[in-house]
This record gives sequence, C-alpha cells and structure tokens, in this order.
Amino acid sequence: MPSRFYTKQERKFQSHSHSHKNLHRVSMVQHLASGTGFMDEKERTAHYNKEKKKAQLMRKSSFWQAKVQKEGKCYYCGVSLSLKDATLDHILPLARGGTTKKGNVAVACKSCNSEKRDNTPVEWLHL
Ligand SMILES: [Zn+2]
Repeated sequence: MPSRFYTKQERKFQSHSHSHKNLHRVSMVQHLASGTGFMDEKERTAHYNKEKKKAQLMRKSSFWQAKVQKEGKCYYCGVSLSLKDATLDHILPLARGGTTKKGNVAVACKSCNSEKRDNTPVEWLHL
C-alpha cells in the first residue's frame, strides 16, 4: 500500500480543524467556568422561561401550599411567612441551570428572594 500524501487542500483543512479544536476547548473552559450549563444566551432564556412557568404552576400546587404551611418561615432569614407572603426561591437559580423541581425550591421572603437573585446560597451568604 503506497504511503499517502496529503494535498495542499487537505493539509489546510487539517490545520483548520486543529485550530477549531482548540477554539472548542477554550469555549468549553469558559462554559464550565461560567457555571451555567448553557451553551448560549438563547438556550438560557428558553430554559428560564420554561422553568419560570413551571414555578408559577408550582405555587398553586398543594405541594407548595403544604410546604409553606409546614415550614412557615423564610428558608434564609427565618422570618415568619404566610402563604400570601411566601415566594418560591430556586436554590440553584434558573439563570444558573437550576430547575423547578421539589428538591430545588425553598420558601423565601420577598426581600431574601430579591436579594439573592441569580446567586447560589453559598455565594449569597458567603459560606
Ligand atoms: Zn428571608
């Protein structure tokens, strides 16, 4: 079998795909460093809107009402909360890849929820 020589074009393609691979690696690192789990802004917005809608539904659910009544206070600062005052906080924020599921929601007062925004509890409380 004769040894294979690359044409100029193939060589060009190879070096191109090589640099592309490096670019990909850089974007993966940035991706991991950002901690969102999203590849782009569009994907992030779609996720956010979807989970936000699920949160609105969850607030009306018997699961949520029972949780607020049982806990009766803000998960973060401990202030007493009624069902009317309680807000649904995403422990891992939606903007950071969190979802609206039972294990990722906490009863929070309005001020903690708005103060926390897109931070994780660890970042916000500086734990
Ligand atoms: Zn609070």
